[in-house]
Amino acid sequence: MVAYKSKVVERIRLPSRERRAAALEEAGYNAFNLAADDVFVDLLTDSGTGAMSDDQWAALFRGDEAYAGSSSFDQLTSAVADVMGFERLVPTHQGRGAENVLYGALLSEGDVALNNTHFDTTRAHVSNQGAEPVDCPIAGAHDPETDEPFKGNFSLERARAVVDEVGAERVPLVIQTVTNNSTAGQPVSVENTRRVRAFADEIDATFVIDACRFAENAYFVTRREDEFADATVADAAREQLGYADALVMSGKKDGLVNVGGFVATDDGALFERCKQRAILYEGFPTYGGMAGRDVAAMAVGLREAVEESYITDRIEQVRELGAMLEAVGLPVYEPVGGHAVYIDAGATFPDIPADEFPGQALVCELYREGGVRGVELGSFAFPETDRPELVRLAVPRRTYHREHFDHVAETAEAVLEKRHEVAGLEIVSNPAVPELRHFTASLEPVSAERAAAADGGSE
Ligand SMILES: *Cc1c(COP(=O)(O)O)cnc(C)c1O
Repeated sequence: MVAYKSKVVERIRLPSRERRAAALEEAGYNAFNLAADDVFVDLLTDSGTGAMSDDQWAALFRGDEAYAGSSSFDQLTSAVADVMGFERLVPTHQGRGAENVLYGALLSEGDVALNNTHFDTTRAHVSNQGAEPVDCPIAGAHDPETDEPFKGNFSLERARAVVDEVGAERVPLVIQTVTNNSTAGQPVSVENTRRVRAFADEIDATFVIDACRFAENAYFVTRREDEFADATVADAAREQLGYADALVMSGKKDGLVNVGGFVATDDGALFERCKQRAILYEGFPTYGGMAGRDVAAMAVGLREAVEESYITDRIEQVRELGAMLEAVGLPVYEPVGGHAVYIDAGATFPDIPADEFPGQALVCELYREGGVRGVELGSFAFPETDRPELVRLAVPRRTYHREHFDHVAETAEAVLEKRHEVAGLEIVSNPAVPELRHFTASLEPVSAERAAAADGGSE
């Protein structure tokens, strides 16, 4: 049930079909290069794109901009203690700032980090420390059709196999990402978190929870894990997070703000190391790369994120979009996860081979057809990993309504009707950091002649 009404609105408009075609070409067929004004319904990401509440806007005005000892920082400290159960935190400009601070303190050259699935910035930060990121998703995690309650879980079997191979001393860090963003936003059970905690103890590793979407995960725990059937989302969240030695948080997700993040830990020595790195890379440890007003808004947002009415509406809205897309015939990843609907672009465009990026082709066609922006998370975003060709339509928090979703579903239906005419794409310029190429690379449609030649066709 909807849990809010509008107080401020932002105008949007659908550019003409000609403008959309031109914009796509100018953007090098990369949705990250599109101007937001050229986009009608923007489902590129739910990161920092949501609407703040009136209480958050009020907090913004009361933000304390003191360089040191800001009262906004005290409010955040108290919110993190109440909502997440950690006493000490280092604020950062956003989640990846927290990753740099924490993983720089925990990893050295040659180490291995285990994660149910590394989010793209996590993977890049682990690599940037000279360490190797290894994913341990459960079997079937990437299968868009298995209907399991906790497809985001961390596979202890895979983790043990890695430790047997490289030796426990090379694995100082175990990360669990809740929800598992890169595995279609699938949740992780508390039972799985407990087992990962025990495993980290066994191999003497630090256990970090990537908590960016902790409230969404906790919602699923209360609905799908028997032990928590009578628990509140707030209780489930605190229970799960409490098993970690440290948290990485992006305020742009379940902090319900437009910017911000932090590392939280109760480990005094780790906290000191993070603080030193934060001063170097982020800012003084009571503001850490955020304005005081943003710290204040996040303190309010964290508390709102675990309110039953908010989080229920949030998850139901995403599920509703998934059902609408499925109804028009799009192959939707099942079950729908916490923050986004994932579409199997390989199944949508069976004529486009993986090396011509069917996912990116779907992203481009959704834009061309209806000004809808999504993002590819298949072989374009993750070269050299064995993943399905997924496209993500992420739902910004408290932002869009049923009418927007109707438009997205109609757009998807129109794309499906011309599925056999859509061309694949090839990369024409490639940036230096391979893990992040999907943010900036440009592409071109594979020409009809080339496609025919590749097919061995003679027409
Ligand atoms: C968004 C995200 C991050 C990075 O946070 P930013 O605020 O975008 O830098 C890290 N991990 C996960 C799981 C995320 O969803």
